Amino acid sequence: MNNNDIEKVHCLIIGSGPAGYTAAIYAARANLKPVLYQGIQPGGQLTITTEVENYPGYPEGVQGPDMMVHFEKQATRMGADIRFGLATKVDFATHPYSVWIDEEKQLQADAVIIATGASAKWLGLESEQRLNGYGVSACAVCDGFFFRGKEVAIVGAGDTAAEEALYLSKLCTTVHMIVRRDQMRASKVMQDRVLNSPNIKIYWNSETDEVIGDNKVEAVRIKNIVSGESQTIPVNGFFVAIGHQPNSDIFKGWLDMDEAGYIKTIAGSSKTNIDGVFASGDVQDKIYRQAVTAAGSGCMAALDAERYLGAMGFH
Ligand code: NDP
Repeated sequence: MNNNDIEKVHCLIIGSGPAGYTAAIYAARANLKPVLYQGIQPGGQLTITTEVENYPGYPEGVQGPDMMVHFEKQATRMGADIRFGLATKVDFATHPYSVWIDEEKQLQADAVIIATGASAKWLGLESEQRLNGYGVSACAVCDGFFFRGKEVAIVGAGDTAAEEALYLSKLCTTVHMIVRRDQMRASKVMQDRVLNSPNIKIYWNSETDEVIGDNKVEAVRIKNIVSGESQTIPVNGFFVAIGHQPNSDIFKGWLDMDEAGYIKTIAGSSKTNIDGVFASGDVQDKIYRQAVTAAGSGCMAALDAERYLGAMGFH
């Protein structure tokens, strides 16, 4: 590639959830001329949720996708350059740092803010993969509609699984909830709601052996790990809600991460082990993972980037 084809960027933001857009708002207001690449899911995980009731400033609640449109509009109004494209490779060996978009376009950035978030985890069954999109889904809110009046199964026992089971229980005749231990991880209030829903049936101590069906989901075979007994439950939909993994693959080898792939930041900051590279939101947070905490850490990243660029004399 000709050097003239490389675009120089002062502050590059990768990711478009609450962390990325908040970083863009702050960076734009600080005149860092941020360029933000949205990734494959503009708006991030909140675009596949429904009602958000716990984001301050919305007393009546707000739909997740609407909230992310608000974030984007605000960042654009402040002057951030929001673009569609996926960061596919980085080279942090020399400054300015190189980032490739969609495997072809190369950028060089004085400061990089990573806000790539996290994605849904899968069980890893062959049948789950084969029937993905044919009755297997990781997003009840996106796909529940297709199973109105039908029976579905959901795996998981955290707040996401509880929320999605409740959502599905309003659409489906029966929701079969497969829980691998004898208790749920979800918060007490969510557990109570699930346990009090007459059409959610819980299978404790149960693992999924196979999703059954040739071209579409027809049943799920589960095994009770205490009794060793297997049973087949006829269902039309199979939902997986077992948590998330950080979208940090392209940064492996450059940035320090924990064993699950969450980027490590210096406590009380968004700084990574590389000067001028900052991480915010769910890609570096496996504890809080809330829209409001992601937004807060996006703000921290922009302020850290501003200080870094000022101190280094990059204008
Ligand atoms: P969590 O990591 O909290 O829960 C994952 C669940 O999936 C656990 O019950 C876990 O079981 C189960 N699980 C994991 N792997 C498997 C597997 N291979 N087979 C079967 N079950 C499996 O993820 P969530 O996405 O539920 O929540 C993430 C964070 O987001 C949490 O902090 C949560 O509180 C928060 N959240 C908050 C919401 C709210 O406030 N409204 C809504 C949604 C999420 P086990 O318990 O045995 O480990």
